[in-house]
Amino acid sequence: KKWVYLFHEGSAKQKSLLGGKGANLAEMTNAGLPVPHGFTITTEACNQYYQDGKVISDEIIKQMQESLKELEEKTGKQFGNPENPLLVSVRSGAVFSMPGMMDTVLNLGLNDETVAGLAKLTNNPRFAYDSYRRFIQMFGDVVMGVEHYHFEKIIQAKKTQLGVKSDPELTAEDWQDVITKFKAVIFQQTQTVFSESPMEQLLQAVTAVFDSWHNHRAKIYRNIHKIPDHLGTAVNVQLMVFGNMGDDCGTGVAFTRNPSTGENTLYGEFLLNAQGEDVVAGVRTPEPIAQLAEKMPDIFGQFQQISKRLELHYLDMQDIEFTVERGTLYILQTRNGKRTAEAAVKIAVDMVGESLISKEEAILRIDPDQLDQLLHPRLDPDAQLEVVTKGLPASPGAASGEIIFHADDAEKLASKGKAVILVRPETTPEDIHGILAAKGILTSRGGMTSHAAVVARGMGKACICGCEQLKIDLRSKEVKVGGHVFHEGDLITIDGSTGRVIQGKVPLIDPVLSPEFTELLSWADEIRKMKVRTNADNPEDSRKAREFGAEGIGLCRTEHMFMELSRIPIVQKMILAETGDERNEALAELLPMQREDFVGILEAMDGLPVNIRLLDPPLHEFLPNLEELLVELTKLQMTPDADRLEMIRKEALIRKVRALQEFNPMLGHRGCRLGLIYPEIYAMQTQAIFEAAVDCLHRSVPVEIEIMIPLVGHVKELTEMRRLVEQIGSEIETSSGLKIPYTVGTMIEVPRAALTADQIAEEADFFSFGTNDLTQTTFGFSRDDAEGKFLHAYVDNKILPENPFVSIDMDGVGKLIEMGVTLGRGKKSDLKTGICGEHGGEKRSIEFCHKIGLDYVSCSPFRVPLARLSAAQAVI
Ligand code: ADP
Ligand code: MG
Ligand code: MG
Repeated sequence: KKWVYLFHEGSAKQKSLLGGKGANLAEMTNAGLPVPHGFTITTEACNQYYQDGKVISDEIIKQMQESLKELEEKTGKQFGNPENPLLVSVRSGAVFSMPGMMDTVLNLGLNDETVAGLAKLTNNPRFAYDSYRRFIQMFGDVVMGVEHYHFEKIIQAKKTQLGVKSDPELTAEDWQDVITKFKAVIFQQTQTVFSESPMEQLLQAVTAVFDSWHNHRAKIYRNIHKIPDHLGTAVNVQLMVFGNMGDDCGTGVAFTRNPSTGENTLYGEFLLNAQGEDVVAGVRTPEPIAQLAEKMPDIFGQFQQISKRLELHYLDMQDIEFTVERGTLYILQTRNGKRTAEAAVKIAVDMVGESLISKEEAILRIDPDQLDQLLHPRLDPDAQLEVVTKGLPASPGAASGEIIFHADDAEKLASKGKAVILVRPETTPEDIHGILAAKGILTSRGGMTSHAAVVARGMGKACICGCEQLKIDLRSKEVKVGGHVFHEGDLITIDGSTGRVIQGKVPLIDPVLSPEFTELLSWADEIRKMKVRTNADNPEDSRKAREFGAEGIGLCRTEHMFMELSRIPIVQKMILAETGDERNEALAELLPMQREDFVGILEAMDGLPVNIRLLDPPLHEFLPNLEELLVELTKLQMTPDADRLEMIRKEALIRKVRALQEFNPMLGHRGCRLGLIYPEIYAMQTQAIFEAAVDCLHRSVPVEIEIMIPLVGHVKELTEMRRLVEQIGSEIETSSGLKIPYTVGTMIEVPRAALTADQIAEEADFFSFGTNDLTQTTFGFSRDDAEGKFLHAYVDNKILPENPFVSIDMDGVGKLIEMGVTLGRGKKSDLKTGICGEHGGEKRSIEFCHKIGLDYVSCSPFRVPLARLSAAQAVI
């Protein structure tokens, strides 16, 4: 079996075998780009390594040695030869890029002999010994497990001893001294001698890269991004080129377009006289790429050309790593760049405009889950802002929260529901859990391509980097800037779109859709087959949803109208009524209020279908809390001259609340069961709806009404309720002389309804699948208990692939839905079908709805754009 591929033997198609980095290095090599020679050890070799109990097999080693020979021939250098030493980097390369999550070792092949050779060969001892100490440092950290700070401490001590501030001030002799101490600390920490044999170094490094596939941060990253554990990583062994030989050298990272906004300009950073790690590690803040045009105009020109070429080749925005060694440009990596949602949309739409990709391709390139970012609130432009400083706008969006300095603390506080902003000099891959927990990230060092920036953009979090005026003291947990001092727990706001750091909390406003986003969605509308409606129960949400492209209301929950503070007493009066007359009195008071609500909504929707669900939740939800009532009663009883009448009223209320309490309210007296026992409630609601319709029609506002009866499990429940609705309908049509366009249907949300959908269809004009309740009743889970208590364990232990309240359980709940559609349409071919559970705004569920042929999905206003896009993706 072939375990090792020279770069020229591979291609971009072999990502799963060679890893993303290896496949692209191969592709670029074959396209004739200046890529240093090298070879890739496959992901299969990694998996074999684990299968063999963490041993690299002899066969794999043999193939590595053969490839190394070829590398020596190609470069004219030899591993371990002091006259002309071959030095390589050993680079991890997973199938899906995991920036900074796994390990890389540079300058491998150096030892006490080859370093002297390198010094002589380059006539630059300082460079040689600096490279050597970097190698020992990385090797010690990555391969031998000696923590970074041991090495930093030694360097720091050396600088203090010499009274110098920065690394470049250290001479070759200084570094030699540091190197001796490095080796000593490695031995002291590991009881193992640092190996001087290049081949031994190589084997150890490859082992370490294989091992890093299972390190903590890589696992967390895979979890977040849903990357399977079994893929394994490839390892790339590549001839070193040096960006740290002097001022005609340098290294950098660039995106072919702006990864934050999507703007079509080369965007990146570089450092003169530096090795690659310095840029990505965010230790030094690099210069913007435009500066390269001044400092190395030739190189800049070449680089511009190459980046255009790469973009054309891959037909996507590229993230390119490069190094300049003594005036020669080398490309070390390219990949499809990670980007914010804003950039993703702009780039996709622009590329259609540039005839690079099709509209369908553009639609497929946007992850609907990422769109959330575009619909997040933004800073109110009219707000008074106390801007304390500015940094690099690394990832857009606004976030307010408490300042926190350590990733662990961020995680802790966030788990208690606190909004936190992680503030650090720089972030490292070890901080990933803190970044995940924080609302936003603020760093004082590092550029737009630093670790914090890349990871934050990937997660859609607001991030500001390189905010150099911040003086962060991690020990005393405070940060000084200008005249301000902030402590842990103080509130700040960061605006990742402009780089502004703002004191305190800032008011946020609703987002608007960008022109590109609007265009992309209009393409989606041409393609999709399903309609997209919204769940809304007031005029304002209805209008918002229409702005986002909703084509009707799929669920108007009337109980929300009952919950309004000023109405609660009247609703309570209705519930507590002892006689029919009393109840009717309260209902008569509610009637005009409901009518007004419906008028507002019907006006906002202007003739689009509006699906109104009659009262659904158990009545006790509208009553005061029993425990509180008991406390109040006790207080009254202990007051000597308490009002007798009030006490009696309280006792009556308590009796009623007790009587309405249920053992299992989710399965209790709710839905159409209310309408059947208290028809006057549904009658009032129906009357309000029809009167609102008449009011609109009189003013030439068109209406289309769907009245929905909830929680039907037996067709007779629907028959009864339908008769009630139609009776009121015909009364009002007669009295107004108008024909009201309305239909009557039901929610399918208990298994019996799906199982008997053919019978129910006889009485229904439409079905709307209430997948929240249907999931509860199909699994027999109570959602509130399940999500808090055991569902997480179910998902973690892979008993369920996913939380079924988030993404439809296709095998079970999905089967019921499909059965409902088939049985229903079998009886009534023009039966309208839709979904109104929260699943209606989730991409995989939407795809499922398309597959089984639903007419529409309905979701909350802010998810409408996502649903439009997902519905189109389902077609393509
Ligand atoms: P990551 O996947 O974390 O980005 P890389 O393998 O890309 O790690 O290595 C990090 C950096 O090390 C690169 O950006 C590059 O600057 C530097 N580097 C890697 N290999 C070489 C090489 N052969 N010559 C010079 N620099 C290299
Ligand atoms: Mg890289
Ligand atoms: Mg329900």
